[in-house]
Amino acid sequence: MLVYVLNQKSEPLMPCSPSKARKLLKQDKAKVIKTEPFTIQLLHGSSGYKQEIILGVDAGSKVVGLTATTTKKELFSAEVQLRNDIVDLLSTRRQNRRTRRNRLRYRKPRFSNRVKSKNKGWLAPSIENKILTHLTIVSKVYKILPVSNIIVEVASFDIQKIKNPSISGVAYQQGEQMDFWNVREYVLFRDGHHCHGKKGCKNKILNVHHIESRKIGGDSPSNLITLCEECHDDFHKGKLKLNLKRGQTFKDATFMGIMRWSFYNKLKKLYPAVSMTYGYITKNTRITHSLPKEHRIDALCISGNPLVERLDHFYFLKKVRCHNRQIHKVNLLKGGVKKLNRAQYEVKGFRLFDKVQYQGRLYYIFGRRNSGFFDIRTLDGTKVNKGSVSCKSLKLIEKRKTILTERRMAG
Ligand SMILES: [Zn+2]
Repeated sequence: MLVYVLNQKSEPLMPCSPSKARKLLKQDKAKVIKTEPFTIQLLHGSSGYKQEIILGVDAGSKVVGLTATTTKKELFSAEVQLRNDIVDLLSTRRQNRRTRRNRLRYRKPRFSNRVKSKNKGWLAPSIENKILTHLTIVSKVYKILPVSNIIVEVASFDIQKIKNPSISGVAYQQGEQMDFWNVREYVLFRDGHHCHGKKGCKNKILNVHHIESRKIGGDSPSNLITLCEECHDDFHKGKLKLNLKRGQTFKDATFMGIMRWSFYNKLKKLYPAVSMTYGYITKNTRITHSLPKEHRIDALCISGNPLVERLDHFYFLKKVRCHNRQIHKVNLLKGGVKKLNRAQYEVKGFRLFDKVQYQGRLYYIFGRRNSGFFDIRTLDGTKVNKGSVSCKSLKLIEKRKTILTERRMAG
């Protein structure tokens, strides 16, 4: 375990061991700032020396992996679960507004007053929220560690390089084998990660097959096709004939990964040292060192130090909604009475997602009832007592945040 340390000006220093932190706290040289991740602040000046820390970010649409490393040690590792309820919530809202407006006889048309039509950089709210969460979390890491460089995976393959193999530059000197990994990742994307052998084949273990031998046809995408292991085997045994057309055009991949590119560009405006990498390189690193396929491990590979001494735990973070602004329930009660949707701000002194202690363990409040019986859970969804615990036996640990944190052991 590591304890994160801030100096008097709240700037991050290198983390220290728990025993050193205990000593500092005992001698009144430091105070506790946060319990998760455990962070202390020094009360007297100490600059300390800093090593180079690289933060790898595996950006994603459902889960984000973040790992900070030096050349020797892993210093921080986290997995963040993003919100995926936004599309649903907004379409419900749209529906509700539509039925409400339909009750009016006439209403002047409104169509040119939308943000979407005015703002060129408009992104769908669900994507906007994902990007914001990515940025928030990076800033959280910056608050506890003196990060020197951020590396982000922007896409799973490099389309420019496939279109124009002769580009040169530092990022392009990885050799032929690496280039093939790039093309392979593109071909898998182009073929929709499906086997193109037998009709309706749904096998999951995929190979990339050379239509003409590698020597004759080369590694260009037009000479490659996705086959599952079984079909690939059958083809080489002569049991399967492929129906192939050579010379496909490039499937447009520019729209792909708008979220990750946009995150990268915003990050570049905020921090001095940000660089990028591609998924095929991460995948290659992960497989050559036979590391498990997990988001935080991918982030470790992205940070460029895949073989460092690892921590025995990581932080699981979950982003939850900030507000619920719906005023009335959709369906009216008998007699046309509108039922309020808003729960009280506090029920028996507790808010939704407050962190509480129950029988010595930490939980979050997921549901409150006026009877005083609450639904408390851990972040993996485990309920306590079928979700019914008297609030009298709960001890408030931390007021609600929009990002919930839980420490987990690394498997
Ligand atoms: Zn197949």
